[in-house]
Amino acid sequence: MMYDRPRGLLLAAALVVLAELGWRLATKRGYDVKVAAGSLAVAAGNLVFGVANGAVIYLVLNSLWTLAPVRWPLEDWRTWAVGFLLTELAYYVFHRMSHEVRWMWASHAVHHSSEELTFLSAIRLGWTNALSGAWIAYVPLVLIGFDPRLVLVLLAFNLRYQFFLHTEMIGRLGPLEWVLNTPAHHRVHHGCNQIYLDRNYGGVLIIYDRMFGTFAAERADEPIRYGLTTGLSSANPFVLAFDEWRRLFVDLRAAPNWRARLAVALRSPGDAS
Ligand SMILES: [Zn+2]
Ligand SMILES: [Zn+2]
Repeated sequence: MMYDRPRGLLLAAALVVLAELGWRLATKRGYDVKVAAGSLAVAAGNLVFGVANGAVIYLVLNSLWTLAPVRWPLEDWRTWAVGFLLTELAYYVFHRMSHEVRWMWASHAVHHSSEELTFLSAIRLGWTNALSGAWIAYVPLVLIGFDPRLVLVLLAFNLRYQFFLHTEMIGRLGPLEWVLNTPAHHRVHHGCNQIYLDRNYGGVLIIYDRMFGTFAAERADEPIRYGLTTGLSSANPFVLAFDEWRRLFVDLRAAPNWRARLAVALRSPGDAS
């Protein structure tokens, strides 16, 4: 019984992956087997390392939560309503830092390495999140009294929602695009064209991008190129998961002193290339 729900979700995901495969072949877009294999292999590693990463992050957040002066009750729907808006805001900050701080980008770059955007790109997730530390974005949330379990449940929903954004199969969604992150918005996020870089960081909601000036709409006159600006077309999960760390350590070794090393680790990935 306990396993019914995840199995149902997995089945739904498998069905949309197959539907997309059929659609891509029927519309002559092709389906890159190497990209798909790379995504599946990275996802397998994420399953293994994700448990350890999640445990470390959860333990830290949970111990910080004990310092909170108030605790908002999980039985009250208002806790969930406000908690949702704030968790989405924290996710925006987490995701933006993951792009703008090179040490944090080292874990997130793998998610952007797919050069063809399909549902499977969604599960290309980093193996080293605890180490990269972008999760500090969630610390204020627990310090003001939000239960880490609420944050965890909302982030699990956020990630599952985002699975369905990784596709070219779904077009524009009208007024929903004002409030929600949609496939069109997230395609922009995965673009490596100059005009699409560092845009649309939202998870479920797109409102924070609109508020903080990082929103960009998909343009018919600028077809999206997917992947990293530095290019990385390997299917080897270890190369995909650690290549940005390798590049970072090359630059750290070349830096003359610790002050310069700190600057290398903290500056934006764009400044490095
Ligand atoms: Zn990203
Ligand atoms: Zn994505």
